[in-house]
Amino acid sequence: MSQQSRLKQLKLEELLQRDVWDVDEDRHIEVLNQEGLPIKALIILCPMGCYSMAGDKLLMSYEGCVECGTCRVLSSPDKIRWSYPRSGRGIQYRYT
Ligand code: SF4
Repeated sequence: MSQQSRLKQLKLEELLQRDVWDVDEDRHIEVLNQEGLPIKALIILCPMGCYSMAGDKLLMSYEGCVECGTCRVLSSPDKIRWSYPRSGRGIQYRYT
């Protein structure tokens, strides 16, 4: 890797700061039933920290979601309802 390309490496946080969100008022991800969900994995693996616990209840904050699909893979449709936000809503990636 050249010196120049090393200088262009950015941390994930720096890349995400470039993006913007047009948060949809309708949540596109919803926990329907937390029984049997891999809760620890959801909390640890969601890159945006959208999952957390309040007592023994799993909370999901969809506003910062980057639509990576990790929680969709970790769950099933009867446990977590997952869809993309309505067209044009949600994260808008900036690649420059
Ligand atoms: S799709 Fe990705 S960013 Fe969005 S809540 Fe699931 S794991 Fe987190």
